Amino acid sequence: MKLNTCKLGIIGGGQLGMFLAKEAKKINIEVHVYSNTHDAPAKKYAKKMYYGSFDDSSKLINFFKKVDAITYEFENISVESLKKFNKKKNIFPPINALSISQNRELEKKFFSKNNISHAKSLFLNKKKDLRDIKKRIRFPAILKTSRFGYDGKGQFVVKNFVELEKYWKDLDYAACIIEKKIKLKKEISVICARDQNKKIFCYPTFRNIHKNHILFETYSPSGIDKNQENKLTNISKRILKKLNYIGVLTIEFFIDDRNRIYANELAPRVHNSGHITLDNSNISQFEQHIRAVCGLDLINSVKLKKGLMRNLIGKDIELVSKIYKEKKYKEYLKVKKYPYNKKKIKEGRKMGHINFIKT
Ligand code: ADP
Ligand code: MG
Repeated sequence: MKLNTCKLGIIGGGQLGMFLAKEAKKINIEVHVYSNTHDAPAKKYAKKMYYGSFDDSSKLINFFKKVDAITYEFENISVESLKKFNKKKNIFPPINALSISQNRELEKKFFSKNNISHAKSLFLNKKKDLRDIKKRIRFPAILKTSRFGYDGKGQFVVKNFVELEKYWKDLDYAACIIEKKIKLKKEISVICARDQNKKIFCYPTFRNIHKNHILFETYSPSGIDKNQENKLTNISKRILKKLNYIGVLTIEFFIDDRNRIYANELAPRVHNSGHITLDNSNISQFEQHIRAVCGLDLINSVKLKKGLMRNLIGKDIELVSKIYKEKKYKEYLKVKKYPYNKKKIKEGRKMGHINFIKT
């Protein structure tokens, strides 16, 4: 497929879809977006919108027929619908990566199988599993639903067995994992990409600060030492190859108080921690993703300025001028605000972000 001839379908019209569509437009790629709401942020840049729920196979298949290649901006899409179409269309990132990332149990098993260090985890699927694994649980632990969790939703820190039983019951015994709670020193993400010629690209790592389990700030580059940077990048490259991956992949890592590395999650897509690349890099994560999924070469030399991304969560969107004046942002000379134009302000909802750049 050549530049200009790829009609790209994006499943999901949120802010990630919006930035993908915007960057695609810059390189003359026509974008069609499938969304479950009529006020999707991506509408602003899409050539055409399609509406339906994300598990409506027939609507999705109708959408797939209209485009040359398909990608997605979030994970909770029916793998079954995609599989039905996989042979006829280019669907990137590959479906196996999507199904692993949809299920925390599969994710941990993928890390184990490939000797990638991660927080020790036990799995709860049937009621009797809790009795069987009781002796192996170490507290404090984190109970996480295996599926559909994001921004800390479906997660509970548990200090003892009684609490664990209670929270699992509250979750109606949904499939869960029990994960060792790590003494976090740093949270780092790697955003990397692989194109259809199997060429790999990795951004310098990003350091992430969370508040209430939601990403609050990202520092780029992360400032970790060279040795750790190389370790994280090498693990990420190994994952890209194992998954025979095409597109941008984000891997979240933990570093603990003894500098040990743990892989946390895979996101088979562009990521909130990469929003800073819109301004501090010669190539954004969105353009790299579009290039890879449309069969273009990745841009391989990255020029980076120091940058900081600050998420605008809930009412933050009304406090931007106050945020600009915060002392810690003073040293940054260039500032750019990105509102997502969502109609309703909700607590915990990502309403926009600010990129701060040192020039
Ligand atoms: P999601 O991002 O899908 O909500 P994560 O597993 O990334 O789920 O968890 C969200 C945040 O919760 C992490 O970024 C981290 O701050 C904290 N967290 C999650 N798991 C652990 C753990 N095992 N130990 C310590 N903190 C954790
Ligand atoms: Mg996460």
